[in-house]
Amino acid sequence: MQNADFSRNLLQWYQHHKREMPWRGELDPYKIWVSEIMLQQTRVDQATPYFQNFISLFPTVYDLADADQQQVLKAWEGLGYYSRARNLHTAAKTVVEEYNGKVPESYDEIIKLKGIGPYTAAAVTSIAFNAPNAVVDGNVIRVLCRYFGIEDDTRSSKTSRMIQEEADELIDPEHPGDFNQALMELGSEVCTPTNPDCENCPVQAGCIATKMSKTEVIPYKSPAKKKPHHIIGVGIVENEEGQVLIALRPEEAMLGGLWEFPGGKQKEDETISETVERELHEELGVEVKAYKELMSLKHAYSHFSITMHAWFCKLVNGTPSPKESQEIKWVKTEELERYPFPKANKVLTERLINDKN
Ligand code: SF4
Repeated sequence: MQNADFSRNLLQWYQHHKREMPWRGELDPYKIWVSEIMLQQTRVDQATPYFQNFISLFPTVYDLADADQQQVLKAWEGLGYYSRARNLHTAAKTVVEEYNGKVPESYDEIIKLKGIGPYTAAAVTSIAFNAPNAVVDGNVIRVLCRYFGIEDDTRSSKTSRMIQEEADELIDPEHPGDFNQALMELGSEVCTPTNPDCENCPVQAGCIATKMSKTEVIPYKSPAKKKPHHIIGVGIVENEEGQVLIALRPEEAMLGGLWEFPGGKQKEDETISETVERELHEELGVEVKAYKELMSLKHAYSHFSITMHAWFCKLVNGTPSPKESQEIKWVKTEELERYPFPKANKVLTERLINDKN
């Protein structure tokens, strides 16, 4: 199958099968950019309500640039990978300050913005500005590996380069935005990880994997390294007014700019209540007594997972100060929902609010 036939068949299929999404058909480069950042690590159905809320709060790049970081993180709460929100916020300020509020049109300019890598640069410039830059995401990798019969390990950078080259060759220079979206849609809806619907695939005639009955073994990905698991102890310190103590994570740390209950990793030969007491001493410079466990929960991040144990603590000695955080605050339980928390801490705040009611 020639490239032109591949493109024609794909685009025809896309016209009839594309799913409705709030950013589809959007011409505003800012909104396309926001949608692409949200979709980096998030499924469409999960991202959709966040996108709508985010755009209603920050309808233009100026609104986002003017916003307080806490507002931006609150709008992102629950979506994970919070550096995306912090970087988007920083980049919005750059666009306002250095580009007069206009999202840069060229790939080489847009990729200089914080949080924009090759994928997002190609997606935004192709969809918003019709530039022939091919996107390669997990869906595109699967379709192209099968179509071209690429059996190499998709974890290797050599294979990634090869797939990018194939995508660059294949992209329709007349309709690059639609082509990119169509290829991703094909991977998501037809060329699925298991049981691809080859009978209804618009590019089946040229597909090597289907001809060789290898769709179940292509693409190949070598096994991932096992993720470490940590046991975490956190303290819920209450004062006489019934307020609890929360801390603002350092700006550059993972989950930076979000609030949390102070705590940290359990060491060997330590009980979990000892962990909580030691961690609060290190983080707040106080002595506490961890006297009762409220709850425990498991949570998985991209590179590790945790079991978090939350303990009520009594202040025994000292006045808390932010030794390892940007700031600490005493907050009434019912006011906790005003602050952005990462997922595991959010579950904890909800439990505290429910128990109070
Ligand atoms: S024919 Fe099957 S394996 Fe090949 S691209 Fe289409 S859906 Fe994927």
